[in-house]
Amino acid sequence: MSSLLQTPSTAPGRFGPYGGRYVPETLMVPLLELERAYEIAKNDPVFQKQFADLLKNFAGRPTPLQFAARLTEKLGGPRIYLKREDLLHTGAHKINNAIGQGLLAVKMGKPRIIAETGAGQHGVASAAIAAHLGLHCVVYMGTEDMARQALNVARMRMLGTEVVGVESGSRTLKDAINEAMRDWVTNIRNTHYLLGSVLGAHPYPTMVRDFHSVIGREAREQILLAEKRLPTHLFACVGGGSNAIGLFYNFLRDHDVKMVGIEAGGRGNGLGEHAVRLAAEQGFTGARPGVLQGTYTYVLQNEDGQIATTHSISAGLDYPAIGPEHAWLADQSRASYAAVSDDAALEAGSLLARTEGIIPALESAHALAGLQTRIPEMSKDDLVILNVSGRGDKDMDTYKRLL
Ligand SMILES: *Cc1c(COP(=O)(O)O)cnc(C)c1O
Repeated sequence: MSSLLQTPSTAPGRFGPYGGRYVPETLMVPLLELERAYEIAKNDPVFQKQFADLLKNFAGRPTPLQFAARLTEKLGGPRIYLKREDLLHTGAHKINNAIGQGLLAVKMGKPRIIAETGAGQHGVASAAIAAHLGLHCVVYMGTEDMARQALNVARMRMLGTEVVGVESGSRTLKDAINEAMRDWVTNIRNTHYLLGSVLGAHPYPTMVRDFHSVIGREAREQILLAEKRLPTHLFACVGGGSNAIGLFYNFLRDHDVKMVGIEAGGRGNGLGEHAVRLAAEQGFTGARPGVLQGTYTYVLQNEDGQIATTHSISAGLDYPAIGPEHAWLADQSRASYAAVSDDAALEAGSLLARTEGIIPALESAHALAGLQTRIPEMSKDDLVILNVSGRGDKDMDTYKRLL
């Protein structure tokens, strides 16, 4: 690692050597403005009350922590609880963060929101909160993703959002983020960039994590009430990493709680066939530390440092970098990361549907498939919380076609 990067981990926006703020000068102004606004909002009881109120009455929190009796019996290992983020308004955890940043935009006096989206879930969440708060919203989306997620495009448009197709690069999430950044540079005065995961330059990875940490705060209370003890394992899928860190964060000090992030193993180990940034010991190639879209983290790249194309059956996991806090948790072995294939995720989605009556998002199905691979090393005394990050309605075409 270059000596330039040996910043103390206490520096704001740093997770060990990861994170930071690697942006063109023009973006420093809005990033510093956002950081200041967020610091004030964090300690502002009025802001926190508005946030809590919208989480409850607009999004539908708290979400249940449901004991999965038939899944537990079927897998024959640990007791399994499901954190039901799929029950939230707009269908996934993404609304937690969208509400937080929407309120911040209002606080900063910015009437216009831009966002990028892969699976379309973050676009829909942004569109919904923008409409609710009376903000103008523009969403950038790769045309490849627009085709895969046509229903979500229609939902955003019905909510009054302008959806802009991005034709450059691989026409997926990373290209949409580039376009959104370009828009932001030219419209910083009236525009807030509502970034959808724990990615990008400081303060985004910290701020987005904080907005999602309600997941783990609730889950901790709920499991203590139900089982009178902490879980032994947490499982969540990891695209950018926001639903996973949202669940993990309030358990980080509980050293007996093992945390497992599940990445998209796609259809093979070669570069371009998967979106595995951290689970390299499973033989996936191409990830090493680098800078992408404002943050220093593990990035899938070729030998020349060109960003690799990625593949996953699940648009929400199909991204070449990972949130910098996960890179740090992996380096420290505080969390572990593993990958499962497209096929394993499809099967797991079907399993959850038939045992529990829940059709999960393909992203969340990865988390269950990851849990299944660990069952042989677990016992009946183990206690698992599995984050069901979203519902499967958006993925029905894929399920129908491939199952
Ligand atoms: C977007 C999305 C993900 C992946 O994003 P993270 O930031 O890793 O949470 C996972 N599940 C669902 C349902 C999503 O919509």
